[in-house]
Amino acid sequence: MVKINSRIAQVVGSTTLAITARAKELKEQGKDVVNFAAGEPDFDTPDNIKEAAVKAINSGFTKYTPSSGAEDLRVAICSKFKRDNGLEYKPGQIVVGCGAKHSIFNAVMVLADVGEEVIIPTPYWVSYPEMVKVAGAVPVFLQTRRENGFKMMPGELAAAVTPRTKILILNSPSNPTGMVYSRKELSQIADICVKNGIYVISDEIYEKLLYCDEPFVSIASLGKEIFDRTITINGVSKAYAMTGWRIGYAAGPAEIMGHMKNLQDHSTSNPCSISQKAALAALNAPEDAIVAMRKEFKARRDLMMSLVDGIGQISYIKPDGAFYLFCDFSRFGLCAATAKRILDDVNVAVIPGDGFGAEGYIRLTFSTSQERIKEGISRIKAWIGAQA
Ligand code: PMP
Ligand code: GLU
Repeated sequence: MVKINSRIAQVVGSTTLAITARAKELKEQGKDVVNFAAGEPDFDTPDNIKEAAVKAINSGFTKYTPSSGAEDLRVAICSKFKRDNGLEYKPGQIVVGCGAKHSIFNAVMVLADVGEEVIIPTPYWVSYPEMVKVAGAVPVFLQTRRENGFKMMPGELAAAVTPRTKILILNSPSNPTGMVYSRKELSQIADICVKNGIYVISDEIYEKLLYCDEPFVSIASLGKEIFDRTITINGVSKAYAMTGWRIGYAAGPAEIMGHMKNLQDHSTSNPCSISQKAALAALNAPEDAIVAMRKEFKARRDLMMSLVDGIGQISYIKPDGAFYLFCDFSRFGLCAATAKRILDDVNVAVIPGDGFGAEGYIRLTFSTSQERIKEGISRIKAWIGAQA
């Protein structure tokens, strides 16, 4: 056996990526798989964005850019933060990465030292604990309650803080639960972080996929003190159906961002120059495409909820954002086995909740057509009927 770096040896592969790949593989083999697994928009990237990329190639924008991203893109990101989130960042406070995942990874690596604790509200997105382990820091799982809509309560956060707490990872709208914090709830969280000197990594990748009436709130916008302790993460993958282009970004205090740039200098250098031009076109265009996608996602969410309600045995908390329905399948046994049986028996790909720290749950993504949602839920209904 090869002796592997001890931190890397602890890292487990991503359940979301593994099952999504398996579903694609089965499809290529000719199986009629309904894909409720992939955490990505099924829409095509809008034409204006593709055209900007073609233009970048033809005009020779195919060389290295500054490692934190081209100046025009960082300026556009500052305008986006100001316009959408009321946040005043300067281009020097922005580091563009190869996807939001990369930006979060770099933020964790820069801030979390060996032995320091990182609070991760649970259920969590699969990659957060693994990133913390790579940094040699300690993930501290804050178990949220279903009766609170999977929201962390201020008292629970305060109780999880120790002298070693360094970071809170916040994700609203949440993958996998679709939970969205209100302004008031974020203020309470911000107060606790400021009081205890905790940094916040705020993963806002699902910002544009919001189905409730309350507007989206960035925690960093809630006052100077929390602004100075927050790394705000966003990207183009979900809002513009650009998952394969790999552009995400981070914004925060200049000192921290300088270290993120240095880390990037020696790992990836700049994210793909062509994708940067595509992201620039995305951020500078009117939001028509986003509005249309959001409308369709909302219709799909409502459809999936009503069909799951019709089955009668599966409960969930209504998602206000993202594109996931996080369902309680605990009556059918361990969720990894349930997900495998659903895929093998009725060819519906779903993600088991154990990868999100929630045994018994199954994540159903409503990022597929209404026809396929009807087909997939009717197969799951038949599967459940066969378990009796
Ligand atoms: N954060 C969350 C919560 C996610 O679900 C994802 C998955 N795409 C990401 C970050 C990473 O997005 P990307 O790297 O594609 O920008
Ligand atoms: N974030 C998406 C998901 O949760 C895409 C896969 C991944 O990067 O984890 O399914």
